[in-house]
Amino acid sequence: MPRPISATIHTQALRHNLARARAAAPGTKAWAVVKANAYGHGLARAFAGLREADGFALLDLDEAVRLRESGWAGPILLLEGFFEPADLDLINRHGLTTGVHCDDQLRMIETARLDRPLNVYLKMNTGMNRLGFRPARYRAAWERARGIASIGQITLMTHFANADGEIGIAAQCEAFEHGAAGIAGERSVANSAATLWHPDAHGDWIRPGVLLYGASPTGRHADIAAADLRPAMTLTSRLIATQRLEAGESIGYGSLFRADQPIRAGIVACGYADGYPRHAPTGTPIAVNGVRTRTLGRVSMDMLAVDLTPCGDVQTGASVELWGEQVAIDDVAQAAGTIGYELMCAVMPRVPTHAD
Ligand SMILES: *Cc1c(COP(=O)(O)O)cnc(C)c1O
Repeated sequence: MPRPISATIHTQALRHNLARARAAAPGTKAWAVVKANAYGHGLARAFAGLREADGFALLDLDEAVRLRESGWAGPILLLEGFFEPADLDLINRHGLTTGVHCDDQLRMIETARLDRPLNVYLKMNTGMNRLGFRPARYRAAWERARGIASIGQITLMTHFANADGEIGIAAQCEAFEHGAAGIAGERSVANSAATLWHPDAHGDWIRPGVLLYGASPTGRHADIAAADLRPAMTLTSRLIATQRLEAGESIGYGSLFRADQPIRAGIVACGYADGYPRHAPTGTPIAVNGVRTRTLGRVSMDMLAVDLTPCGDVQTGASVELWGEQVAIDDVAQAAGTIGYELMCAVMPRVPTHAD
């Protein structure tokens, strides 16, 4: 028998969350962002739930080709663009749309032999300072792109650094408007946070990622409580042993948890080699047989311990939810000092996944 851990991908939740994104940004078209193997959900499984998207956005050329070969004939956007001239052959063959963020990429397109129009997302750096042309240089880049015969549509794009936080997006929006002034063409600016919380900055094509998977751009579950999103992944396992600790006894490596009174503990088949965060301390939320409780001590490679005090007379074999419908992935992430994005992306290949 395999280890009892598994991840369930909820196809209907993906569909629901995409509909929520659309409802938040009426009149726009939606890229479903499925980079990083659909944020750990599996590209094929995510595709099954997100077919109503107008297009799929990702980073990896291999994933783009896989999506094309799985039957998606609509738009596919490479968010970071391409890295060498040979990539353009595949982009051309599969009719992909590509981000263009630097002069090197424009040069490669100029010298490539393409037999159909290449649609590009011309990226402006409005303050994130990772990729893109500065606003003052944007018009020149756009004119250069427009002068390349093989380039078809040019969409104007930028990416927000603070759509989920205090700093907000005003300065970046201003920079974008300035750099794009007088340039015709569709705009794409909104990640999940802007889709949910900045209705004035939706542009023509939204690019929601994490919200499709039912987690919060801020990493705090309470922030999406009003957005009616559903978790797209449930990570479950089982108790493979129970222990009774006497007062003074400890559990796990480093003896980080020590009982101050007798306590029943359960041992769960899930550890950091499954992608559960090793940084999750004692007290991280978890559910056993549907009852919320807490982890105890340090997460091991293949196991972790839970407090069975609130769970009644549960035995070996009891079901455990690491995250999903009973325990928000953001709550686990917050306890571990990270965000839901990182946890969902980190689920390891050894964890079997299935769709429901
Ligand atoms: C990842 C990414 C997104 C989606 O971000 P979320 O915060 O997951 O919504 C959108 N646009 C670009 C360019 C990205 O890299």
